Order: sequence, then structure tokens, then C-alpha cells
Amino acid sequence: MNLHIHNTLTNKKELFEPCSSDKSVNMYVCGPTVYSEPHIGNARAALTGDLFFRILKELFETVTYIRNLTDVDDKIIDQSIKTGIAINELTENVADVYQSNMLELNMLKPTYEPKVTDNINNIISTIEKILINKSAYISEKHVVFDTQSFEEYGCLSKKISSDLIDGARIKPESFKRNPKDFVLWKPSDNDEHGWKSPWGYGRPGWHIECTSMIKSIIGNDSTLDIHGGGNDLIFPHHENEIAQGSCCSSSKFCNYWFHNGIVLVNKKKMSKSLGNVILVTDIIKKYNPITIRIALMSTHYRQPLNWTDETIINAKNIHEKLLRTLDKATEVDEKKDNNFLKLLCDDMNTPVAIQYLIKQCKLARDDINELCMLKYNSNLLGIVSEIKTIKLNDKEKQIIESLIKKRELARKNKDFTEADSIRDQLTALNVELEDGSAGVSWKIKR
Ligand SMILES: [Zn+2]
Repeated sequence: MNLHIHNTLTNKKELFEPCSSDKSVNMYVCGPTVYSEPHIGNARAALTGDLFFRILKELFETVTYIRNLTDVDDKIIDQSIKTGIAINELTENVADVYQSNMLELNMLKPTYEPKVTDNINNIISTIEKILINKSAYISEKHVVFDTQSFEEYGCLSKKISSDLIDGARIKPESFKRNPKDFVLWKPSDNDEHGWKSPWGYGRPGWHIECTSMIKSIIGNDSTLDIHGGGNDLIFPHHENEIAQGSCCSSSKFCNYWFHNGIVLVNKKKMSKSLGNVILVTDIIKKYNPITIRIALMSTHYRQPLNWTDETIINAKNIHEKLLRTLDKATEVDEKKDNNFLKLLCDDMNTPVAIQYLIKQCKLARDDINELCMLKYNSNLLGIVSEIKTIKLNDKEKQIIESLIKKRELARKNKDFTEADSIRDQLTALNVELEDGSAGVSWKIKR
């Protein structure tokens, strides 16, 4: 089956073709800067990556998925000063919360989760390569990327709306030849966060971190298949990544770029000053994480998602419907459903895919084939973490049935102590008994 992705680089929906072979794919998604706890906007970006990862795994033998943690950044230094919490403690705490939030939301673990602090040597060597290629210059203890040295600078952001570019911070500074030039390495004061480098004690700029971590994992002269992130990263972050990645290597930096839209809360941008930031930690206390996952899928990933009470109520209804239907599916096998996969392969059309699942719930009531496919499809989207396939072999079934017979006999003989003790044994085996008029029936509990 063919996957089509809307590629920001060409502003077109394109057939995805991996560059190295038909079997393996690599993908990088920008992770969080770990200075404050993740909100539902961070969760949406991670979910977009997670869903592409799941779809790619259906289509290709080997999928390498990299999602980084940015633990060196000026925002972190500012937050550490503001809160009085040491930088290492702050970043480790926030990274822990992020990772556990993402696991709760049933995101698959990426293949690699590199941290900037573990990659300082790689970053220094990437900067050295860019300097050797004469695409950067040293000025006032800074190493600065020379945007005029790279003819294609602007290739990613040229087609996006100008408010995204205007919103980005471009500061003309004395050490820059051109306002668009950006910092690869900056000096740190002695008591500040920093590392020794050929250009003095300092720390990397944000953009070089991602480029360098990608190159250190896939190889300096390999091309990345897919790069993703929130659309607020298109300019300057991703534009600058292309410039760096093209000037430290002989190959193209990346073939396909996807970007997810923003999460609005009641049509407003989340901000601390409005007090409408929804933290993942808070919302998973109120709602089942799978319900939140479904809510985040309710709008196509490229569109802005407007989060309202209705969004979560609709998701809750869909989740309950799925659970009720799949309750009958604990012992059935999963079955691949190409019609469903086709919807996901069309630039990951999750709203249509969810409508498909709602219809399938209805059909699955009296069609076991649809039930098997529903189970597969729900697992593919990661929206049934509670349901695991429990398959019993004949011997296990015999043991359970003989215990049930023993219990019935004990009850007939009014030996209730024995009957209760057998019931406890069955409970320990996860067997749920239902005493009905037609006798005792049983099933394995979730
Ligand atoms: Zn990044």
C-alpha cells in the first residue's frame, strides 16, 4: 500500500518513497524543550509522530523513529533562575514527566530519544564541518551560520503564511553579518551552563542540536526520510536545520517534512497569561488517557485543533462505544483491514478513520469478521491499551472448566466454603464467572 504525505517542502501531498531501500525508513520529530511540563499542544505533536510511526511500521520492515529532548536552551536557564531549581534537576524532572505522560497517552517508545547534553561532542564536530565548508563565521566569541552561503535558504518556509515568519524572533545583532544569520555556538559566562569548545567555553544554539543529533544517528552522509514537528517550528528552526544539514554533509538533509497544527482552547491560543494552558498531567487525572488520545485525533493533524468540552465529550462517547464492542473481542484474533489502512495512508486522515471505526462498531455486533478488524484497527491507532489478546490453550481451558464443575458440585452439596475457595482460585486466574439460568458461563477478564 502507498503512503501519501503532505510535504511542507513542496506544499503538496506526495507519494512517500524511502531513500535508502524499500524496507527501511527513518524519521525524526522535534521533541520538547524540557523547562516546563507538557501541555496538550506538546501531546499533539508527539501523537502526530507516534501515528506516523505506527503507520510506517505497517508498511516497512524497519522504522527508526527519533524524538529528542532539548535539555540545553536559554529558556531552561531563565526558568532555572526564576525557580531557583538547578538546571540538571529541572531538566531531569520535566523530562521524566514528559516521558511518563507520553507513555500514559499510549505513545510507542521511539527507537532513540537523544538528549542534547549527551551530544555536545557531536554538536561541536558538526559545527566544525560547517566551518570547514565556509558556511559559518566566528564573530565576538560566537559561531554564526552564514545564510548567504546557502543558496536554497528559505526553501521550506517560502510557501508558508507570512504571520508565521513575522511571529518568529529575528534579531539583528552586532555579531551577525545579516539579521537572518543564526547562532551555532554562543559564549557562556563562567558560572553559566556551558562546555569547553574550540571557540571557548559556551553552549550550542538550539537549531544545531537537532541537526547534529539526527546526523549522529543516521550517519553524516545519509538523508533523513521524514522530519516532523509543530508548524510553529517551520521558521526559523526547520529552515535553519536544512541549512546546517546541507552544509555539513554531501547529501540532501531530508526528503519529506510534515507539520502539525496548533491546539487552541475555546478558539484561543494557550498562554500562561490567559490561564488556559491544559497540562497533560492535569487532564489525565480527569479523563481516561485513551479518551484524550481520541480527542487529539478528532481533527486532521495539519489543521488547528480547537479543544472544547464538546471535543472531550465526543471522544468519551466514541471510546465507550469501542470498549463496549471490543468487550466481546477478548478471544477473537485480530484481522488486518486494508480499507482502514488506506484512510491512514492518505496523509493520516484520522477524523475519517474514526468515523470508519464508529460504523465498524455497529457492523461488528453481528459480524465476527468486522469485530476482528475493529480490534486490529483500534490497536493500530493505539486506542485500546486496556485490551490485550488472551488466548488460552486447550489444557488451560480444561483446568478452568474442571474447577467450575468442582465448584458447582460443592454448591450442590451445600459446601459453600469449598465453593468460595474455588471461586477465589478462578479469580486468581482472571476468570470471571456469570451464574445464569442456563448454568455457569465464564470469560477472561481484561
Ligand atoms: Zn528540532
